[in-house]
Amino acid sequence: MLGIRGGRWEAAPVLRSKRPSRGLQTGVGATLSPVKGPSPDLPAQLDRRRFLWAASLAPLASCVSSKATPSQPAPASQSPEAPVPLAPTVDPTESVVVAPEGSDLATPDFTRVQRFVAGIRPYRRGCYRLEASAFGENWVVHNYGHGGAGLSVAWGCAVEAVALLEARVAPRSEVAVLGAGVLGLSTASVLLARGFQPVVYAAAFTPETTSDVAGGQWSPSLIAVSSAERERFQRIQRTSIEHYRAHVGREFGIHVRDNYVEAGRGSSVLDISRAILPPTRELERLPFRGVDRPGRVRETLLIEPPVYLPRLHEGLAAAGVAFVQRRFESVDEVLDLPHSAFVNCLGAGAGSVMSDDRAVPVRGQLVMLEPQDLPWLLSHRNGYIFPRTDGVVLGGTVEHRQADPTPDPGRCEQILARNAAFFQV
Ligand SMILES: Cc1cc2nc3c(=O)[nH]c(=O)nc-3n(C[C@H](O)[C@H](O)[C@H](O)COP(=O)(O)OP(=O)(O)OC[C@H]3O[C@@H](n4cnc5c(N)ncnc54)[C@H](O)[C@@H]3O)c2cc1C
Repeated sequence: MLGIRGGRWEAAPVLRSKRPSRGLQTGVGATLSPVKGPSPDLPAQLDRRRFLWAASLAPLASCVSSKATPSQPAPASQSPEAPVPLAPTVDPTESVVVAPEGSDLATPDFTRVQRFVAGIRPYRRGCYRLEASAFGENWVVHNYGHGGAGLSVAWGCAVEAVALLEARVAPRSEVAVLGAGVLGLSTASVLLARGFQPVVYAAAFTPETTSDVAGGQWSPSLIAVSSAERERFQRIQRTSIEHYRAHVGREFGIHVRDNYVEAGRGSSVLDISRAILPPTRELERLPFRGVDRPGRVRETLLIEPPVYLPRLHEGLAAAGVAFVQRRFESVDEVLDLPHSAFVNCLGAGAGSVMSDDRAVPVRGQLVMLEPQDLPWLLSHRNGYIFPRTDGVVLGGTVEHRQADPTPDPGRCEQILARNAAFFQV
């Protein structure tokens, strides 16, 4: 599925599926209304609706396998539902885009400012948390603390979290997923594919989560990985890349992009990520108009949260998964829910709910420009630029122990000025 050929990642064919007829608004609106708890008919409903899910998210299920070895297909007997066969098609717009030889890439129009945004990265000192804890008869699998890398590693972490649960709870059990950011939605999707019955509880849903704020580059940066965790983290990264690579296309908001990096900019790529990324190519000059600086280029993936997250949410809602709006103040409130199996994907909220003093909020601020047709990513010494369908993302800040998600206009003006300065405009 994933391969490097001629220095380029192979574009995997995109499996097209029918969108569920319900729009996001309807799906979310219908499921956000307060419910007393899961319906007693939920298992039957889910069996019927799993079919719908298979139709809408079958391509996502194709990346789920047993025992956290995602490159091997799940045995048929364990597979919850055979994916609906869909004709594979290649999205012609998804060929890799490169600068034509000898010509320069366009300069963004920095006057077209759309908005300022901020989000709180769920950083965890020492290491992200991916482990099972027993609370009496209950099992809680923790899946949080991914800092500035959650979007990149969510699918691999979800596969590992579900494997931890499978070793402890009965097949097809109802499982409460706490949190509806990219970690919660990915975990619920993998649970569903593995035959469990997820119910998602969260204070906020897309587009109101930190995951919706993410810039979207596949780059596991700003995440702590302990030495004991390195091997599993390698697996997580590979599973995640395979998943995203299998879903390149506008439908999922996932694109192959060249990422240009200015020479002298410290690499944010972890040493354990380097081995699985395509090699970089040194450039005497970065191919931008008016710029005369050396750098390097490497292919990576752009995952657009405003497309990808609703796609996950829609697929789950279409399969009958309940989304319950609920804020938790403590682990006792969680354990009072009518479930005995939980996956904790509370992101930056996990610190207080689970009394984890290793959880540290790290604020990031961004400036969004109006959408512009710029099919590349750029990381320079004083910022980064990720053009997406909904706008051009200019980054960014890394503010430790700042938990206020309100953008600071002064800092955002600085982000704008630093990115414009790279182009000398
Ligand atoms: C500016 C910025 C840029 C970023 N860029 C990238 C990038 O390019 N690539 C990348 O891989 N990552 C990036 N990240 C990091 C990424 O956004 C996070 O790692 C990821 O979103 C974490 O996902 P999550 O699901 O754990 O948390 P969240 O998205 O925060 O979701 C947490 C969920 O839990 C719920 N919740 C929290 N507390 C409670 C509570 N007490 N009770 C009930 N529900 C609760 C929330 O409502 C939400 O539904 C960026 C982050 C920021 C801020």
